[in-house]
Amino acid sequence: MNIQVPDNIKSIVPYPPGKPIEELEREYGVKDSIKLASNENAWGSSPKAIEAIRKALDNLHRYPDGSNYYLTRAIAQKSGFSPDEVVIGNGSDEIIEFLVKAYVQTGDEVITSHPSFLMYQKVVQVRGGTNIIFPLKEMHHDLDSIFSAITDKTRLIFLDNPNNPTATAIKPTDLYSFLSEVPESVIVVLDEAYVDFMDDDVQVDVYSLIKNSKGRCGVVALRTFSKAYGLAGIRIGYGLMSGDVAAVLHKVRQPFNVNQLAQVAAIAAIEDVDFYNTTLHKTREGKAWLRKEVEKLGCSTYSSQTNFFLIDVKGDAAALYEAMLCKGVIIRSMKAYGYTNVIRITVGTGEENYRFVHTLGNCLRELAYV
Ligand SMILES: *Cc1c(COP(=O)(O)O)cnc(C)c1O
Repeated sequence: MNIQVPDNIKSIVPYPPGKPIEELEREYGVKDSIKLASNENAWGSSPKAIEAIRKALDNLHRYPDGSNYYLTRAIAQKSGFSPDEVVIGNGSDEIIEFLVKAYVQTGDEVITSHPSFLMYQKVVQVRGGTNIIFPLKEMHHDLDSIFSAITDKTRLIFLDNPNNPTATAIKPTDLYSFLSEVPESVIVVLDEAYVDFMDDDVQVDVYSLIKNSKGRCGVVALRTFSKAYGLAGIRIGYGLMSGDVAAVLHKVRQPFNVNQLAQVAAIAAIEDVDFYNTTLHKTREGKAWLRKEVEKLGCSTYSSQTNFFLIDVKGDAAALYEAMLCKGVIIRSMKAYGYTNVIRITVGTGEENYRFVHTLGNCLRELAYV
């Protein structure tokens, strides 16, 4: 075989290929490990979604509904949009791909922050676009620098709000004034994967932003069922946008991009208000407890608008990650992002949170950080 790989593909660093938990356990000789690393829902999936999936199993020999008819309507009804303003994806990751596929050509520019969600820059690279990347400023999107970097080649701006990995949200008034200045030729993508966990006073009125885009930039809001709804494993997310933008995205998607089980699961999950509310309540409770306990150990914590938060462990985060892993507690080190002493953890169940704190205390002492 002697086939050329284009330069833009050659230079892509693959998404860190985390091993399955079972493999890690074998390698490190641990059992019953807990994973607080991927911002998943600690309390599982909505029982109503699971029941809906069970019922749908008899129909797997059929193609899914390519129009996502019922799910689109369920989302539209819940959010106040009309069905032609909703696009469903195989995870909200796929909506990111649609946007870049549809609007970015070789040489076009896309603006993102660093650190933020890694998917944005990667799909731009695949497409041959140019990533314009700004470091966060005090762990927040640097809207002034982003605005000053807009050129006539700029197509998209991605803002994860709240940001992953810092858990910070943009002040709504700052965002509104930023959006009122961005030219009409640009789409600003607000990735709201963690919107459910945000405090009311930082929530953004995406309905007005999308409905009233006359004379300024388009806005697309991304939402997912992977976090608050506990359906990360089945891959389902969506975008809210003007009908014009939605029509363009429908042109670049596969006819059956969303599988049948994901569609029925998401519809049931929307209806399962109990599971959703319980998740939000327990997350808030768990986060407050964790912060208090972690600070008692001598670490400092950062404020959070999500189901995860950052902890300054007062010593090398990568070494702490290894030490925790050896005791069966999987977290994220932020060292590769330039935050040398910082880890990220997702709120777990009460039992998981307790084990995390206990293990963290032991590891901090072993490593002599505090
Ligand atoms: C988890 C996450 C998503 C969700 O991706 P899915 O493809 O819907 O699972 C999107 N954006 C950010 C910033 C995230 O952290």
